[in-house]
Amino acid sequence: MSKEEGLECSFCGRKKAETNLLIAGLDAHICDRCIEQAHGIVVEEALHTTNSEISKDLMLKKPTSIKAFLDDYVIGQENTKKVMSVAVYNHYKRLLQPKSDDDIEIQKSNIIIVGETGTGKTLVAKTVARMLNVPLAIVDATVLTEAGYVGEDVESILTRLLQAADYNLEKAQTGIVFIDEIDKIARKSDNPSITRDVSGEGVQQALLKLLEGTTVNVPPKGGRKHPDQKFIEVDTENILFIAGGAFDGIEKKISKRLNLQAVGFSASKKEDSLERNNLLKYIIPKDLKDFGLIPEIIGRLPVLTYMNPLDKAALKDILTVPKNAIVKQYEKLFEMDGIELVITEEALDFIVEQAVEYKLGARGLRSLCEAVLTDAMFELPGTDNKELHVTKDYAAEKLSKTTIKKLKAVS
Ligand code: ADP
Repeated sequence: MSKEEGLECSFCGRKKAETNLLIAGLDAHICDRCIEQAHGIVVEEALHTTNSEISKDLMLKKPTSIKAFLDDYVIGQENTKKVMSVAVYNHYKRLLQPKSDDDIEIQKSNIIIVGETGTGKTLVAKTVARMLNVPLAIVDATVLTEAGYVGEDVESILTRLLQAADYNLEKAQTGIVFIDEIDKIARKSDNPSITRDVSGEGVQQALLKLLEGTTVNVPPKGGRKHPDQKFIEVDTENILFIAGGAFDGIEKKISKRLNLQAVGFSASKKEDSLERNNLLKYIIPKDLKDFGLIPEIIGRLPVLTYMNPLDKAALKDILTVPKNAIVKQYEKLFEMDGIELVITEEALDFIVEQAVEYKLGARGLRSLCEAVLTDAMFELPGTDNKELHVTKDYAAEKLSKTTIKKLKAVS
């Protein structure tokens, strides 16, 4: 018998030949089955870990300090930052409130954010979760389907949240879920009785319960329901849901509504007073309904806010101002090689102009910077150069070598 064949699992004693995989440790071996079992135990343990620190942590943050934290990372979007700070504060206040018998039940303050893609919706959700130190799951509404259809059941949202919480159930149950592209599950027709568009409406229906607060059996590892897989009961009562979507074309519905209300007033004066390029600030829940969200969903996302389109000044700030601004990150990377990176104002303006001209938005800023700085990041380390001076001409020269198509693919 060869030495190989004599090996066995130190936990269950199975011979190597009886296992699919036998992993060697310092002076022990473990087989695939024992690994799976052990993993199950780890998950189980984590579920029972209670975390009394959670509530103590949360209670400390007042709306003004939530907003101040957001200010460090999110440029502009004052309305959303303020509305979010209050909603998040109220949400956790509700959660920490001892059960009383005065019959005043504080409702959930789930949030819906309307705004073009790349204006910071996900960033706001991420930043709030980071500040509160609660787990965050980011899910795309477009992959969700009704149970029984190809795609992911809505419960998969909670699987993600459990994973984000390292299977600590208590943490997951006070976490945040960001549902992106909620507009993509809108009903396609205004009139449900004529063309029943099950694809979108069915998912909205399935989401309802989660948003409101219910107990859901969640497969901890997601995917197909597996006979051996135990379900975990997750209570969504204290999970904060934030939905985001671009709602392309909703401005038309808003302007239509505003014009209708303007009957009797001077229409032109009314129009003048509106900033035509940002009608979103006048959004009300009815506009979401006209767009195709069902009233029940709108009712369960009671906090409605909007994102402003990012102008040149905002894009420039995004490059340099946030705590982890893109330019600061590159400065740090160069600094690690003993090189000082200096980007002139004109070069920054140039990068911003390119982002605007090619409609790359805030996401494009990083790929633009990458295109400008890649040659230097490749060539300079290990040389005597101690400074990189990026002028507008330098940036233009580097960008002329890359195709915008490539930048769009990255952004
Ligand atoms: P959305 O969810 O609205 O599509 P994201 O939050 O994913 O947009 O934004 C994409 C990226 O653009 C972010 O990771 C961030 O780097 C940058 N960004 C967008 N908006 C802002 C903003 N208001 N402040 C700072 N950075 C922003």
